[in-house]
Amino acid sequence: MSELVLVLNANFEPINVCEMRRALGLLLGNKASLILDGRGYISTPFNKFPRPSIIRLKNQIVRPRPRVKLTRREVFRRDNYTCQYCGKKTTNLTIDHVIPRHLGGSQIWSNVVTACSSCNHRKGGRTLRDTNMQLLHTPKEPPHSAVYIFGRHMAECADWEPYLNGW
Ligand SMILES: [Zn+2]
Repeated sequence: MSELVLVLNANFEPINVCEMRRALGLLLGNKASLILDGRGYISTPFNKFPRPSIIRLKNQIVRPRPRVKLTRREVFRRDNYTCQYCGKKTTNLTIDHVIPRHLGGSQIWSNVVTACSSCNHRKGGRTLRDTNMQLLHTPKEPPHSAVYIFGRHMAECADWEPYLNGW
């Protein structure tokens, strides 16, 4: 059972994911209300209350749209766990910098791709032109939609989906 709780802004926009403990603090502090439970109950000596799955802040907070953080895991997810050179789907994945870092390539979405270890080895810190290798897709930043951003939790938090759609 997931310990992660989806946090909605007052206007129902999904804005964050937090730990159960933090969510309970917001609920007990009357800063948020319970939107979805269904995860059983938490018992204290004096109380019993439902474990939240989704909460909603009582006061709208202003914050920029969350973006997908550039991490290895998120690059793999964007590329569907597929080598962007040979198209192989494998668990032995690496990150390739399209323009190698030692040639000035940056750590940005448009310069990182998923590569299997043999393609990464073949490219070996060189440019596409030098290796005559080609990318299957042009790498870019993933979408900012709530479904994409929070989609990495979908396997364990499928009940969030209706609250993510459309944002
Ligand atoms: Zn490959």
